[in-house]
Formats: sequence, structure tokens, C-alpha cells
Amino acid sequence: MTFDIAEELDTIRKNLGKISFEDQRVLVTGGAGFLGSWMCQTLLASGAHVTCVDNFASGRKENIQHLMDNERFRFIEHDITTPLPLEMRPDYVFHMASRASPFEFEHYPIQILKANTMGVLVALGIAKKHGAKILYTSTSEVYGNPDIVPTPESYYGNVNPIGPRGCYDEAKRCGEAYVMAYRKQHNLDTRIARIFNTYGPRIRMDGIYGRVIPRFISQALNGDPITVFGDGSQTRSFTYVTDQIEGLLRLASLDAARGQVINIGNVNEITVLTLAKKVIKLTGSSSTLSFHPLPEDDPLRRRPDVTRAKQLLEWEPKVPLEKGLVRTIEWIRSCS
Ligand code: UDP
Repeated sequence: MTFDIAEELDTIRKNLGKISFEDQRVLVTGGAGFLGSWMCQTLLASGAHVTCVDNFASGRKENIQHLMDNERFRFIEHDITTPLPLEMRPDYVFHMASRASPFEFEHYPIQILKANTMGVLVALGIAKKHGAKILYTSTSEVYGNPDIVPTPESYYGNVNPIGPRGCYDEAKRCGEAYVMAYRKQHNLDTRIARIFNTYGPRIRMDGIYGRVIPRFISQALNGDPITVFGDGSQTRSFTYVTDQIEGLLRLASLDAARGQVINIGNVNEITVLTLAKKVIKLTGSSSTLSFHPLPEDDPLRRRPDVTRAKQLLEWEPKVPLEKGLVRTIEWIRSCS
């Protein structure tokens, strides 16, 4: 059974106000992934024609199965790092294809590099050919382990190119450089989102590849020990998926965002240890905490400065962490 997100889609639409994608043709790469599938579904609800491209490297058929009957939805199974013959002429290209979990960096570094370099080139080529606007979903990882927190877009980053996260961090930095190059040389209408940790229904939770929130929730629901890395004092700032999608759509559509790079994330910073305790409480679990070594280059703090998003997009996150966690717990429960 499909987990019902109709209410959440409605909320995003209400929050978007006058912003509409009615009759717009949008190409979404990575459209079967966590954020990609939310994006496809939100765009369809807003009247767009959506072409979703995914090779199911980390995306899942279940995320888009329920969209297949929609006549404004088309799915192409394809690896975006190779040329994509297209019948449609997109108004927008959203390049969202990439593995994103730190646990995948060890196993798929080449694919991650390719998705954000060769994949970006394919997406940019399509946007150039059709004069489409392009949104590139970059990441807070371009900042590495930041010296400045809250981190503004002007911060250049503190990244180890040859460490375990290098494949992702440097690929995204290179992807951003490609986008800016196409903007400069071909005058493309480009927008770059630096996405901070985002969670919600459909976030990947399979096996070892899950991110911290679905991992902790699954562990808590199974009564397994919660695996806190380090002493849990490292921080993250978690954005609920509806806030993230709204921010991305504002960034993609508003004129004020043309050519911009903008942090899309929540400013409420929380330690991993506090998160673990919160998850135990919200699930009513009897799980204990188990401490493990902190992975190499794991950023110690992460919190965005969202001044630019507030000013240019008139956007800020609205969903409190507890509310988002409860909803994510409901979804994970519904999966078992
Ligand atoms: N983390 C943890 N236990 C886990 C998984 C992750 O303590 O089982 C920590 C991880 O070390 C990091 C934070 O949670 O500090 C967020 O990890 P995630 O994998 O979600 O992504 P990241 O923000 O590091 O890209």
C-alpha cells in the first residue's frame, strides 16, 4: 500500500502560494529517489508535465509506481551519465541524480563522481539545447568540516579531496563549477541549491545505506541498540522533506534566484546524541545506546545560514523536528 502524502502535498502547494508549474514541462533526473520522487509528485500536483529519469542505482521503483498511471508523468530508465535522447522539450531541468549516503561513498565512489560531473554535463546540455532553466541540487557537503557555523554560501569550504567523503564533496563542488561555467559561457538560467540534511517518508533506510534518522528509528522500532558514532556531540540541522521541496521549487522558479547558489536547510542544530534520545522517546523504545568510532572526516557541526533563502526566496522551514520525526516513524512503521 502507498503511504499517503496527500496532506503534505497540499501544504507545499499552499505554502508556494502563487508559484505554479501548471503546464510546465519538467525533467527530473534521479526522480525515483527520496527527494526526486517527492519533487515529481509535487510538480504533478501543481499541474506540470514530468519526465522522470532514473537508473535505480539508489532510487526505488516503489517511490514512483503510483505515478505511472498519471498521463502527465513519463518515466525513462536511464543512466544520466550517458547521453539521453529526449522527445520532450523541457522548460526546467532538475538534476537531482546522485547517491548521497556516506555509507555508499566507500562502495560507489566512481558512480558518485560521475553523477555529479558527467551527469551534470548531460543535464546542462539538455538545458542549453532547449533554453530550459536548470536547478542543480548540490549539498552542504561542499563546505566539508566548516570553520564557520552557521555557514553562509560565501564560505569556500574545508574539504579533504582524498578522504572517504572526497568522492561526494569534490564531485558536488565540480558540479557547481560546471553549472557556473555554463551560466558564464552560454548564459544559461541556472540555480544551485545546497541541500542540508533532509528526512521524511521515503528516505532510504535499506540495510547499511540508511542515513542517521531512518537508521535510528529502525533500530529503535526493532529494539536494537542505537548506534551513536563518536560521543554523539557532532551536530546536524534536519529539514523535513516538505520544507525542502518548497525551498527547491521557490529557488527553481523565482526570478530573484536566477544565477544564485542558496542554502536550503533548517537552522535548528541538534547533537546526534540528543537525536538518538529523542527517537527513543518518540518511539517508546527500550533500545539502549551503543557508541562506535566516529567515521573519518565526519563533519563536527552542520548548520546553515539561511539569510539568502529568507531574502530571495521568502522561505524558511516550518516543520518542527518532533513533528517530522513522528511522521517519519509512522512511515517506517507502515513499511514493515
Ligand atoms: N551517525 C551515527 N550513527 C549512525 C549513522 C550516523 O551517529 O548509525 C551520525 C554520523 O556520524 C553523522 C550524523 O549521524 O555525524 C549524520 O549522518 P548521516 O549518515 O545521516 O549523514 P551526514 O550528515 O554525515 O552526511
